[in-house]
Amino acid sequence: MTNYKPKNRLTPQAYIDGILKGDRVILSRAITIIESNLESDKILAKEIIQAILPTSGNSIRIGVTGVPGVGKSTFIEVFGKHLISKGHKVAILSIDPSSQRSKGSILGDKTRMEALGQLENAYIRPSASGDTLGGVANKTGETMLLCEAAGYDVVLIETVGVGQSETAVHGMTDFFLLLMLAGAGDELQGIKKGIMEMADMVVINKADGDNIRMSEMAKRQYQNALHIFPQSESGWTPVVSTASSTKNTGIDSVWDTILEFKKLVDKNGYFNENRKRQQIQWMYNNINEELKHMFYGSKNISSKLSTLEKDIIASKISPVKAAQQIIEKFKASFQ
Ligand code: GDP
Repeated sequence: MTNYKPKNRLTPQAYIDGILKGDRVILSRAITIIESNLESDKILAKEIIQAILPTSGNSIRIGVTGVPGVGKSTFIEVFGKHLISKGHKVAILSIDPSSQRSKGSILGDKTRMEALGQLENAYIRPSASGDTLGGVANKTGETMLLCEAAGYDVVLIETVGVGQSETAVHGMTDFFLLLMLAGAGDELQGIKKGIMEMADMVVINKADGDNIRMSEMAKRQYQNALHIFPQSESGWTPVVSTASSTKNTGIDSVWDTILEFKKLVDKNGYFNENRKRQQIQWMYNNINEELKHMFYGSKNISSKLSTLEKDIIASKISPVKAAQQIIEKFKASFQ
């Protein structure tokens, strides 16, 4: 199965030229190759990425998180349009390890961000599907590079905000934006302290109508809460603001804050330092994923694993001994 080579693939150069020209159809086809698990596509993907690498990286990468219903897609739609009106090209990606493309992922639903998706300078791509968060995150990272090479100078990465995916998005972005609601406790919103600590900006969303007063109160509460966190390495003090995506208020100040952040971290060197650190981490993530793939993808290993499972159930072997045996078998396959 993995030796199968699809017929409709272009030459590597055709993908590279198309991406560099900003051709959205070619960009989408190249991303499909990145997301593919076929061996022939993996080789092709590596070649494309290697070639576009020097033209990637020239964007501000923004992570957007918050619990489902907080208004992420509505915010991104309005925010994206605002950026495009200022002359930017905006790519919107997402990390949702639970998504399966065929069932419709968080961004896959056609009604989400429909108006934004129709704009010439917007590119929306639903989450890659995959078994592991690490695998999905790696693919999203590579997709981001392709988008940058295609000229998108703002990349928004949305996360579902209910698990580990925030950490993955934080690990691949320059600025981390947390959307919150007034009147709901932190626990209610499923936001852990660690996620608050990662935020460069907290936006109290849906600050409209009867909700304005509560939102201002929440803003002050979060400002106080953020004060007790240790100073972040970037030298940046997180900003708390209010916004309404439906009334289009407070949206421009989010972008102004991001620009201020960028100015600071460019000046103090944190921007580049952080990007370099992320690249190192990315290498380790790739190693981890590749090792897992090699191990669990091996026929020898999987048949031995099912035998060992039965042995453990029958109390013939301890789990630790079983793990040791299978690792020895894996090591022996390289000798
Ligand atoms: P997501 O699940 O975080 O992507 O949230 P959505 O963007 O789908 O929004 C969830 C619901 O909140 C929808 O019914 C939106 O119309 C509503 N909503 C989003 N933003 C606002 C806002 O700024 N004000 C108000 N009043 N409602 C909003």
